[in-house]
Amino acid sequence: MNSLTILGSTGSIGLSTLEVVRNNPGKLSVFALAANTNVDLMLEQCIEFKPEFALMVDPQAASLLQAKLKPLQLDTEVLTGSDNMCVLASDDKTHTLVAAIVGAAGLSSTLAAAQAGKKILLANKEALVMSGQIFLDQVKAHGAELLPVDSEHNAIYQSLPLDYQQGYLHKNIRDYGVDALILTGSGGPFLKTPLVELTEKTPEQACNHPNWSMGQKISVDSATMMNKGLELIEACWLFGVQPDFIEVLIHPQSVIHSMVRYCDGSILAQLGAPDMKTPIAHCLGFPQRIHSGSAHYDFINGPAFEFTAPDYQRFPNLKLASEAFAYGQEATTVLSAANEVHVAAFLRKQIQFTAIAELNAKILEKYQPSAVSDIDSILQIDQYARVLATEGLS
Ligand code: NAD
Ligand code: MG
Repeated sequence: MNSLTILGSTGSIGLSTLEVVRNNPGKLSVFALAANTNVDLMLEQCIEFKPEFALMVDPQAASLLQAKLKPLQLDTEVLTGSDNMCVLASDDKTHTLVAAIVGAAGLSSTLAAAQAGKKILLANKEALVMSGQIFLDQVKAHGAELLPVDSEHNAIYQSLPLDYQQGYLHKNIRDYGVDALILTGSGGPFLKTPLVELTEKTPEQACNHPNWSMGQKISVDSATMMNKGLELIEACWLFGVQPDFIEVLIHPQSVIHSMVRYCDGSILAQLGAPDMKTPIAHCLGFPQRIHSGSAHYDFINGPAFEFTAPDYQRFPNLKLASEAFAYGQEATTVLSAANEVHVAAFLRKQIQFTAIAELNAKILEKYQPSAVSDIDSILQIDQYARVLATEGLS
């Protein structure tokens, strides 16, 4: 039995993971769940999955959960605080950590799992974008296993040979005849919106993704294509390449989840319905296959596939991400932190949609290079960028 700790269990990825658990009785069990504030959903999850631990980062939410669990006489112990997430992530009973917290808040616990040599299912792309080489060094040094849940990276991983997949962080992708990675993206809800109308777009419109149902932050990132920018950086780290080895391709139907082009002209792809249960089940079962519960893709009745090149005037964040990667590790930390602040400001209607990318660019211009050698300096740079970005809002 593979016992899971799911950090971010009340979010979109958390819920999809629990659906896969539900579809695989006897193979997967839940050791611990963690979330921020959603007590009612956590209570339902405790009743159904009976974890040993349920953690609410917010102390008030933890007290409320405790009070609601008491009359039910469940054995679940309630914890609070971010430090305890690290404790759960590295507990002996955690066989697999599902890193599904959104944003920088997920870094420390994911790192703790790496240092404890766990199997890590990485959904939280911001953690990798922030910490890049330092995080990967910890994964390698402690013999942890890192599997990409993000659908594009999971598709690329699945399209590479088994020999590469096993221990891929220690291997060179060019030794396997790979010429390029083709990262597909839908282009989000504003792919065809006239440019002059973009300033007026609301959080509700930005979060209304045509194909995927996701949390608010990643939905806004998909609309600005910062999501693809973060994924470009994520792919560079995971597969040990530079941005010029990656071609971004707009594919509005989100059926081809990404591809690998080989030197003989072959292109291998992974396809399927846009449903995160598929990459999650792939990672949970790897190297075997398990049922995900996602619907079979119907080619006959599905839409025709379209492809276009990305438009950097419409999606300046995409260019910014690749420039930040070229600057170096600190620049991607700065960009990711500033973007979190600006997306939150857009969601509370403090800034316009187009201001997200404009302000991200301003913060990146202001950043002064400094050497990062450990996770503490990464966290300091993250804080510095947040302060700069917050000051820029007033
Ligand atoms: P979401 O907003 O739906 O859920 C976020 C989860 O994180 C919630 O459980 C919330 O309680 C928890 N959380 C938020 N702030 C926290 C904090 N400070 N401390 C502890 N927990 C906190 O987000 P999501 O869409 O599930 O995305 C999660 C991560 O997975 C993101 O990094 C996203 O980029 C990545 N991802 C998501 C999808 C998707 O389809 N949703 C696809 C690929 C990658
Ligand atoms: Mg993705």
